[in-house]
This record gives sequence, structure tokens and C-alpha cells, in this order.
Amino acid sequence: MSKDFYSIAVVGFGGMGSYHLKLAEGIDEVRITGSFDIKEDRQELARQKGLNVYDSFEDLLADESVDIVLVATPNDSHKEIAIRSMEAGKNVVCEKPVTISSADLQEMIDASEKTGKLLVVHQNRRWDEDFLTMKKIYDENMLGEVYAIESRVHGSRGIPGDWRQKKEHGGGMVLDWGVHILDQALMMVNEKVKKVYAVLTHVTNQLVDDGFWAELTFESGKRFLLEVGTSNFIKLPRWYMLGTNGTAVIEDWGKDAKIVVAKGKSEEDVVPVRTAAGLTKTMAPRREDTIHEHTVPLVESNIKEFYKNVAAYLSGEEDIIVTLPQVMRVMKLMEAIFESAEKGQAVDFE
Ligand code: NAD
Repeated sequence: MSKDFYSIAVVGFGGMGSYHLKLAEGIDEVRITGSFDIKEDRQELARQKGLNVYDSFEDLLADESVDIVLVATPNDSHKEIAIRSMEAGKNVVCEKPVTISSADLQEMIDASEKTGKLLVVHQNRRWDEDFLTMKKIYDENMLGEVYAIESRVHGSRGIPGDWRQKKEHGGGMVLDWGVHILDQALMMVNEKVKKVYAVLTHVTNQLVDDGFWAELTFESGKRFLLEVGTSNFIKLPRWYMLGTNGTAVIEDWGKDAKIVVAKGKSEEDVVPVRTAAGLTKTMAPRREDTIHEHTVPLVESNIKEFYKNVAAYLSGEEDIIVTLPQVMRVMKLMEAIFESAEKGQAVDFE
């Protein structure tokens, strides 16, 4: 590393901007030193936290001691702040979604290439332990050949009443939570996505989507269902994965995975299920001796790796983990979701 630490200045000291103080805490290689927010109460909070508070974005850019600008403003403003920062010689860590369209993202990538400055997106949910656990089950073929995966996040509070409810600020759940779970899906299944079919929900908000269902069909025919809901008073499991020889489920954040795999397919002694209208052997539970049930403990992760990686990249020691081609692919996938929902039909993707 060429200097003691890389100095970070935050633009947008709101919920997430201030949370980055915690993220960077304890990492010797980076330090959040300053911030700028258009709201005085946020400026005051930053002062109380001991940060160097700038009177304007221009003052922040003019400070030569700042190495990295963290963009943590509403989604529609990321592009301009990021490009101006790179043009002023700063590296950029940008909150997700990087911006609100692939055309905007291309301009940001062009600026990064032209200035030679780093542009990296805080896709922090790659470090989610539930995701890493399901990825391990997938990578290690614990269920035989996987043919379907379902990933859901369910809440019941509608969407927050801030800029997230406004289309012009890049509101809506596809851009908010969709970007996380789509990024995870693409990091898990290393195949082309051939088709995308999506439906948006407008239960509590007509202006922006307050949830969505999206089904991706991968090249092998594998299906990946993604769902974000904000009016779900009873949650479905966070993850559900089906393979030719078994099934895995993670009920909720922080919970281990449960796996049931087949030990044999004996049809003898099946006790039919009797319902009011008839009998079924097909849907009868398996005999205990034909299945094996076990748990896969949550894979541990360390979110501090994100900033450590940024510093190691700037020091020429590591490749960047969250790459711009990956971020562009997710952005295009979100556009395909909007297109499919608008047309009411599946759209081709890759
Ligand atoms: P927020 O409304 O709490 O904070 C945004 C802040 O930006 C506000 O304090 C606002 O005054 C300030 N701001 C607006 N325009 C500005 C400008 N031009 N210059 C300087 N300051 C400006 O919103 P938030 O929840 O902190 O979200 C901010 C970003 O972080 C969004 O892009 C959001 O998607 C992202 N986010 C990411 C995660 C994650 O897990 N990675 C979680 C939450 C939010």
C-alpha cells in the first residue's frame, strides 16, 4: 500500500451514508474522513461524528487529501456525482443501484475508463450468509442437478415513504431490493439467461413498483424465481432450491439451511394420504428410511472484505471483486424485467 490509509468522503450522509462509518470501522486501510449532504441536520450529525464537513460538493472535490468519494444519495443522482468525482481525480464507491438505466451506467463506465479512476458498486449482499450457504449447496451439488431456485424477500410495511416512492428518483423495489437478489442469482448460476418473465405489483403504490415476481430461464433450462413483496404478512422461505435428488430451504435470515435428500425410491409401504375427496400415493410423505435430513450451517462471511478489497485494488494487490461488467448485466436484467412487465410477456435476454 502506497499510503497509510485511503481517505473517503461521503456524499449523502443519510441512512446508508452514515452506516458506512460502521462498515469502514476497524479497517486500517480506509478511513471515512469527511462528508457533504444538502440537508443541514445531516451536516450537523456528521460534525458530531467528528467528520470534516464540507460546505459544498465542490469543496469536497477540491480537497486533495480525499482519495475516494462514496456516493450515498438517492439513485437518480449517482451518475452525476460519480462522474464529476472521477473527473476531479477521485475514485468512486457508489451505492446500489449504481444508477437507473444501462445508458447512464455506460456513461459512468466511460468516465472511469477515460479518467483511469476506480468505479465500484457496493453490492454488499454478496456477503449475505444465507446466499453464501445456498451457493455452497449449489456449487457442491448437494441436491443432484438443480433445476429450480426460488429467492424471496418479504416484508409487510409497504415501501418507505421517502424518495423510494418517486419514479424520478429511481424509486421502486426492482431497483431497491431487486438489484441485490438479481446480483446474487447471477453470481450463483454461471450460465446465460435466455428468457425473463416478470410481473410488477402495485399494492400500496401506483407510481412505482412495490414488489415484483421475475422468472429467469437459464441456458440449461434451469428456472430462477425472484420475488420481492412489501405486503406479505406471512413470509415464504427466503430460499428454496430443488434438485433431482433433494430439496434445500432457508426459512429466514440468520437461519441454517435444511436439506432433505433421497436415499432410495422404494414404492413399497407407501401409506396413501386420504383427503375428503380421495386418496393419493403420489403426494404421500416419504418413509423415514428413504430420506436423509440434515442441516448446512450458515457459511460465515465478513462484510469488511468489501473495503479491504477496494484498498487492495487501489494498491495494485488484488482484482476488484464487484466488476462493472457484472453490474451492467444486472442493470440490463432489471430493464428486461420492466420490459417484460410492460409487455405482459417473456422477453429474450442473452
Ligand atoms: P436517505 O434518504 O436516508 O439518504 C440520502 C441522503 O442524501 C439524504 O441525507 C439527502 O439529504 C442526501 N442528498 C440528496 N441529494 C444530495 C446531493 N445532491 N448531494 C448531497 N447529498 C444529497 O437514503 P439512503 O437509504 O441512505 O439511500 C441512499 C443510497 O444508498 C441509495 O442509492 C440506496 O439505494 C442505497 N442503499 C443501499 C443499501 C445497501 O444495502 N447497499 C441499503 C440502503 C440504501
